[in-house]
Amino acid sequence: MQQYISQLNEAQRAPVLQKDGPMIIIAGAGSGKTRVLTIRIAYLMHQGIDAFNILSLTFTNKAAREMKNRIADIVGASEAKNLWMGTFHSIFAKILRSEADKLGYPSNFTIYDSQDSLRAISGIIKEMQLDRDIYKPKQILSRISTFKNSLITVKAYFNDPDLQEADAMAKKPRMGEIYQAYVDRCFKSGAMDFDDLLLKTNELLTRFPEVLAKYQNRFRYILVDEYQDTNHSQYLIVRALSDKFQNICVVGDDAQSIYAFRGANINNILNFQKDYQGVQTYRLEQNYRSSRNIVEAANTVMEHNKTKLEKVVWTANEFGPKIKVHRSLTDAEEGRFVASTIFEQKMQNQMTNGQFAILYRTNAQSRAMEDALRKRDIPYRIYGGLSFYQRKEIKDVLCYLRLVLNPKDEEALIRVINYPARGIGDTTIEKLTVAANHYKRSIFEVMQNIDRIDLKLNSGTKQKLQDFVTMIQSFQVINENQDAFYITDHVSKKTGLVQELKKDATPEGMAKIQNIEELLNGIKDFTEGQREIDGARGSLSEFMEDVALATDLDKDTGDEDRVALMTIHLAKGLEFPHVFVVGMEEDLFPSAMSMSTRSELEEERRLFYVALTRAEHQAYLTYSQSRYRWGKLTDSEPSRFIEEIDGQFLEYLTPAESNYRFKPMIDKDVFGDVDKSKLRLAKPSNGTPPKYITDNQPKPEAAIRKLKPVSSNAPSGAANLFDNQLTAGNIVMHERFGRGQVLNLEGVGADKKAEIKFEVGGIKKLLLRFAKLDVI
Ligand code: ATP
Ligand code: MG
Repeated sequence: MQQYISQLNEAQRAPVLQKDGPMIIIAGAGSGKTRVLTIRIAYLMHQGIDAFNILSLTFTNKAAREMKNRIADIVGASEAKNLWMGTFHSIFAKILRSEADKLGYPSNFTIYDSQDSLRAISGIIKEMQLDRDIYKPKQILSRISTFKNSLITVKAYFNDPDLQEADAMAKKPRMGEIYQAYVDRCFKSGAMDFDDLLLKTNELLTRFPEVLAKYQNRFRYILVDEYQDTNHSQYLIVRALSDKFQNICVVGDDAQSIYAFRGANINNILNFQKDYQGVQTYRLEQNYRSSRNIVEAANTVMEHNKTKLEKVVWTANEFGPKIKVHRSLTDAEEGRFVASTIFEQKMQNQMTNGQFAILYRTNAQSRAMEDALRKRDIPYRIYGGLSFYQRKEIKDVLCYLRLVLNPKDEEALIRVINYPARGIGDTTIEKLTVAANHYKRSIFEVMQNIDRIDLKLNSGTKQKLQDFVTMIQSFQVINENQDAFYITDHVSKKTGLVQELKKDATPEGMAKIQNIEELLNGIKDFTEGQREIDGARGSLSEFMEDVALATDLDKDTGDEDRVALMTIHLAKGLEFPHVFVVGMEEDLFPSAMSMSTRSELEEERRLFYVALTRAEHQAYLTYSQSRYRWGKLTDSEPSRFIEEIDGQFLEYLTPAESNYRFKPMIDKDVFGDVDKSKLRLAKPSNGTPPKYITDNQPKPEAAIRKLKPVSSNAPSGAANLFDNQLTAGNIVMHERFGRGQVLNLEGVGADKKAEIKFEVGGIKKLLLRFAKLDVI
């Protein structure tokens, strides 16, 4: 143990050695916060604290697993096994299962993912006959989520005229009713959504003092990583549980608070001192992760935020290369740059794929990167987005499995009752739903009693409903004695799901069958893994718990060598030798949706700080001058965040963006086939356009070919091609559309048009008077 403690610096050691009492560690990225938590837990155990009495809350389950493995290395696997470690959601789902009856829930309650929640809300909006354009399901769900995370129950909502007025002003006067209907529907289905896992835990701890006392006594030591991103609901849970012993250690970085949009409250960190008595505050200042260039560049980014705690972050690491900035004309070209850079780095420096990460602001940006990586045969993995378990064919299987565990689960039932088709139509389902609402029972219970309720169904339909009930019940019997693999295999065959997919012989259809095979392989792994754990048999309920709470990051076994693609939000806490932050453009990053207030912009900036500080050795910032967004080619400007970094830390691989509408170009006659990166862009101060120069180039002026306006009535400042220069067959570069070939010319003088086939965007007809074209 001593050996591990001696590897820490003095500032890191102090919070490890303080055994009891409340403490907070506030420190910048890469300063060893997570490492301190890990060693602290091992040291607590070394001092005789039972693993059973330690609760550690992490940002992902993967982080928890890694921490546990490290602790196991120090104190031994059998000791570490009993630690309670995981995300808020997974830990409290476990606790809720054993206490569910107190809240009127079955212990095998289903956990709804956001797809299920959205379907439920859509159903409610339809039943209430509301306008979907005003009552947008996604917006409604996010509003309900906000309520839940602020512990505003339906009752509290109806007691709060301000909230109701706000919704009425937003043209949604029936918001409260929808909230009520949604809560009822989940309860009737024996289902909790993600936010419920926290809300119900709070309810459990406040309504049942004996339950609170039980967990307070169990969790004598509580540790929370990434505390800056806890929301109000999580904050209250931590406070309640730690209230008795006050052995609470939280670590965080206010500069990395990036979940305010989901209700995270930075004040939790700022107010910690007020919440507990005798709080010890520790600061870590030395960054061990990144090169000096990256650490100092990231510091200059944060200088632009007003709301922050003053902190010092420095590093003893070597200076390292500058941050490379690259501009491209299209997002496809941006992808090619990233892929070829990875390719070259691997060749030149013997790097592995796993040493690279590509980070972006929104999931939609992954496509261009994927295309380029595939063309270069570079293996990659996307984290986030639509997860494996949300793919249609997988979700169908999972919904059958959910019904086996909890037949009340309404969303699952509606999804599969007539898939594969078994002649149970929409009208029948509607009748069942109405009856279920009327009797305040689940649809499944209505189906079980179909003979006793008069729904005006013909005997054929009744029989089909009864057959369905019998089928699910037969699965339940099998499930009592078999493991998750057996039952899943059985269900996918007996329900006809696999046969249904086999009818589709297209490659997509085959891929779906392969996905189901992959699901079965995954379950096999799971059941075998579970057998090694005491008391676990690899049952379906154990597996489904894992699936419901798996974040995409969790499935990463680390066995395969792949480039990692993910959103910046997901990259929190991780580190990679080389990091590409792509799509560094205004309206994308910072996001157009987060620029209306200073605090939103500051959150975007913190997100950029998180992105930059993931890099150990080399960071790249790339942007494109045009990009397809929502199916339209749009112009884009470089992100202000690039300029906010002190220029001394940057290296421009392509000329920096200027205000000139003349795009400087490299004249091959002057430079020959030069490597662009060898050229520098000179920005003259006398108002003339920027130009490329090389250090050994005798006549740099000749490198710039200025474009002349066609006629005096051309819009001033527009860069137009001198029209008689252009002929069919020419390869041209358009400022917005990129490269293309001239197919045809028509008209004369100011009306002259060119028909051009662009690599991206297809054929376009452009009026030369306005077109910003250049022959290459
Ligand atoms: P983030 O804010 O991004 O979550 P963090 O503060 O949690 O970062 P860690 O991930 O714990 O930082 O540490 C960053 C890196 O520095 C890790 O690779 C870790 O192993 C290493 N490190 C931390 N402390 C030391 C130390 N005293 N000596 C050597 N390496 C260290
Ligand atoms: Mg960390």
